[in-house]
Amino acid sequence: MSQIFVTPRLFTPGPTPVPYATKASILHHDLYHRGKEFAQILEETRQWLAPIFGTPEPPLILTSSGTGAMEASITNFTDIGEEVLVVKGGKFGERWLKLAEAFGLTARVLDIPWGHKPKSEEILAVLVKFPAIKHIFIQAHESSTGTYYDLENLLPKIRQTFQGFIFIDAISSLLAHPMKMEEWQIDVVVAGSQKGFSIPPGLSFIAASPRAWNFTTERSAFYFDLKRERREQRQGQTAWTPATSLVEQLHFNLALLVQQGGVERILAHHAHVAQSVRHASQNLNLALFSQAPSNSLTALALPEHLPASRITGYLRQNFSMNFAAGQDHFKEKILRFAHLGFVDIFSIISGFSALEMALKAEGHEFEFGEGTKQLMCSLTSSMS
Ligand SMILES: *Cc1c(COP(=O)(O)O)cnc(C)c1O
Repeated sequence: MSQIFVTPRLFTPGPTPVPYATKASILHHDLYHRGKEFAQILEETRQWLAPIFGTPEPPLILTSSGTGAMEASITNFTDIGEEVLVVKGGKFGERWLKLAEAFGLTARVLDIPWGHKPKSEEILAVLVKFPAIKHIFIQAHESSTGTYYDLENLLPKIRQTFQGFIFIDAISSLLAHPMKMEEWQIDVVVAGSQKGFSIPPGLSFIAASPRAWNFTTERSAFYFDLKRERREQRQGQTAWTPATSLVEQLHFNLALLVQQGGVERILAHHAHVAQSVRHASQNLNLALFSQAPSNSLTALALPEHLPASRITGYLRQNFSMNFAAGQDHFKEKILRFAHLGFVDIFSIISGFSALEMALKAEGHEFEFGEGTKQLMCSLTSSMS
């Protein structure tokens, strides 16, 4: 039975919900991207992005989805024919691989079973076997499986011997997991607007280390000529017409973030919410899919007789709620409940309780209501 008066809701790992005030923040005027006001907004926004990336130099803001920034990182900071290592533990590791291949890199692949995080020994073994490897491409969080790669522990071990560039796709981890680009000696970090930042899709971000900026490539570039873009953005300008309405919404959200206690507080919020959801999930008679679950989303493993599309379909048709199933060979075997972005605990509770209702309606056996009760208890304990 479909419900009346419902608002469509997103519990997907991108796009994430955009707060009403954020959407409303762009209604009052039209903005000219060559004007002073936009220059100021751009400058302030880039300054606010820097601590989220853990870099002193403000990241560039590009008009594209996250994949555009991934592509730009390859075309600006690598050269044709270079040998690289791609860590592939799901759909997005696969994307690095496809991009590497599309741009003439020789990719050595470390295949990680879906739902597992890579071990430093495994990466180091590939580096020993292929000493010509110049760069490493890896995710911070593999969104297809809800697995966090624990960069704070992984990268120092790799940096003990590896001197090349490290490229991180942090698109779905920023603001849910710390990113300390400079401290962890990362060369390139890419991110996107429609994940932790809770604005609509259409912007991507890229930050690079001083030595990456000093790298000169033989490749040609035009739209994604990052050195040109960097010159422009340092002047409060962009090389091309930017998505002004998105930059303005990002500015609004980052101002809110600063006002609410900054990066540390939002990281703590995500950690607390994710931990509470994982804990509550123990009452669903479903296992967690990931061996290293992230703070961005919780991936539940579904039994054979309960395909994910039945649950996502039920939630969509009856409650107008969007949840993500799995991807590829795990499409029907994983249900992903995202708790990423500017989302309050009451949205989390409503999403989780709706999930329980859907599971019950689809005949799954478990202690109905116990999970939601547990979730409410966990979320109210040690509230920051
Ligand atoms: C969403 C996402 C991307 C980028 O996808 P776009 O659709 O291009 O924005 C890349 N990597 C990860 C880990 C993601 O979650």
